[in-house]
Amino acid sequence: MQELDTPTFRLAVAQFDQAAEAMGLDTNLRERLKLPQRSLVVSLPVRMDDGRVEVFTGYRVQHDSSRGPSKGGVRYHPDVSLGEVAALAMWMTWKCALAGLPYGGAKGGVQVAPKSLSPGELQRLTRRYAAEIFPLIGPDKDVPAPDVGTDAQIMAWMMDTYSQQVGYAVPGVVTGKPLSIGGSLGREEATGRGVVYVTLEALRHLNLPIETATVAVQGFGNVGAHTARIMQQQGARVIAVSDVSGGIYNPKGLDIATLMRRDPSQPLYQTKLGDAITNEELLQLECTVLVPAALSEQITGKNADRLKCRILSEGANGPTTLEADHILADKGIFVIPDILANSGGVIVSYFEWVQDLQRFFWSAADIQNRLQDIITSAFHRTLRFSSERRVSMRMAALMSGIDQVAQAHLQRGLYP
Ligand code: GLU
Repeated sequence: MQELDTPTFRLAVAQFDQAAEAMGLDTNLRERLKLPQRSLVVSLPVRMDDGRVEVFTGYRVQHDSSRGPSKGGVRYHPDVSLGEVAALAMWMTWKCALAGLPYGGAKGGVQVAPKSLSPGELQRLTRRYAAEIFPLIGPDKDVPAPDVGTDAQIMAWMMDTYSQQVGYAVPGVVTGKPLSIGGSLGREEATGRGVVYVTLEALRHLNLPIETATVAVQGFGNVGAHTARIMQQQGARVIAVSDVSGGIYNPKGLDIATLMRRDPSQPLYQTKLGDAITNEELLQLECTVLVPAALSEQITGKNADRLKCRILSEGANGPTTLEADHILADKGIFVIPDILANSGGVIVSYFEWVQDLQRFFWSAADIQNRLQDIITSAFHRTLRFSSERRVSMRMAALMSGIDQVAQAHLQRGLYP
């Protein structure tokens, strides 16, 4: 399908091909799993505050639902495309299977710069998007969640729009909601907390003490900010963070709590809490742990050789290209691949969905403990697989995830 052919989709398919080849995956299944199961493109007319109607393009792609309802976030970003959403949906399938969650993978997106909209415009856009993808979603079908550019408020509008259509409150239709309408404790910080749990395991595995570990984080959104905060809480020194407009560097360590409390419209470099650096410079800093927590394809054949971290912990989806993977392997950098490192978000989304379906809510300690159990055991299973089969951590994670999905397909059989 030509419309899918974007760099991010090519990366997801190339990773899949490599894993499928290494595991000798059934060729019929290979053809199917390269493509999404269902893709919906929607046009979203929105009344702007000045009276004009602007039409936005949105997507919802379900990559696979053989193991359960499909699951995945909704991204609001000007570069969103069908190919990108399809790639992210495929990664969700492997991510859920690797963590052992009873879900398939999906992703949604709207091509928009959310910060350019007023709160009213954002709400109307979100409600129209939810109404247009209504036939595809539901607690037993497909469950959206936040991603880049979306948050709990947007999930609340989606939940309300869906609930208005069916006539009663359906909290389980989306996750990442506010607590008052069935959200879960610990969901907001969950991706960052998961990144920290697997990073701590990697440090232990490499015999690197947390007290002397330095951390650089690219991206200071939901994932990056909580990762930085919790890494610091655990005793590491966070020496650099960045956002779209650049970053700050302070070898003595940054005060993450103060940075998180600042007015979010203020660029990080303006805080004067460290020296201004570019995003590219941040990636090349000498540090123990580098966490890309922004967009895809940041570490490429062009800059991978200049990375000076010991551990690359992928908070973002798809931050590293295949060419970069080979270079990182040669340099002996320990990679915790995205579908493992950032799976804390969807793991706690799963907890939220289970709580909504049971109408029985858990404590913050329950959430943290269960998240730690699931993600830590996924880390060690992947590490074991990687050393037994002599493949990279990325290939080990992909092969384990794909294997679960392949088994489900083969056991269910082909219809008709
Ligand atoms: N957007 C997050 C991800 O990429 C979370 C998805 C979810 O919770 O469903 O994993």
